[in-house]
Amino acid sequence: MGNFIIAKIIARSVLSRFATRLYPFEKRAPYAATRGHIENEISRCIMCGICQKKCPTHAITVVRAERNWAIEPMKCIQCGECVTACPVKCLSMANTYSAASPTKETILLHQETPPPKPGAAKQEA
Ligand code: SF4
Ligand code: SF4
Repeated sequence: MGNFIIAKIIARSVLSRFATRLYPFEKRAPYAATRGHIENEISRCIMCGICQKKCPTHAITVVRAERNWAIEPMKCIQCGECVTACPVKCLSMANTYSAASPTKETILLHQETPPPKPGAAKQEA
C-alpha cells in the first residue's frame, strides 16, 4: 500500500508541469506595473534637485553646475518618490530589472545643453 502511494506521488510529479522556471533560460515577462529601475530622459531634466531631496535612500545625486545627474542602482528601493516629485516628468520607472553586477556602480548622465525654457518656443515663433 505504501509503495503504491509513493509511486502515485512520483508519477504525479513526473507528469505535472514544473512549478518553477529554468531561469535564466526561461524568463517571466515583466508585468506592466513592475517597478524595475529608474530612467531619466536627461535632455528634459532641469537639474532642480528635487529628486535628490525626495529620495529616502540618497541614491540620486544632482550636480547642477556640471549638469550631471547620477543614480546608484544598488541604493534604489524602487519607491517611485522621485518619479512622482519630478516637476517635468523626465523620470520614469522602467519595468525591467537592472542587470546583476559584482560592483556597486553609479550611472552618471551628463546633459550637454539645458532644455529650452517653457514658452521659449512660442516666443521664437
Ligand atoms: S525610486 Fe525611490 S529610492 Fe529609487 S531613486 Fe527614486 S526616490 Fe530614490
Ligand atoms: S526632479 Fe526631475 S528635473 Fe529635477 S533634477 Fe530630478 S530628474 Fe531632473
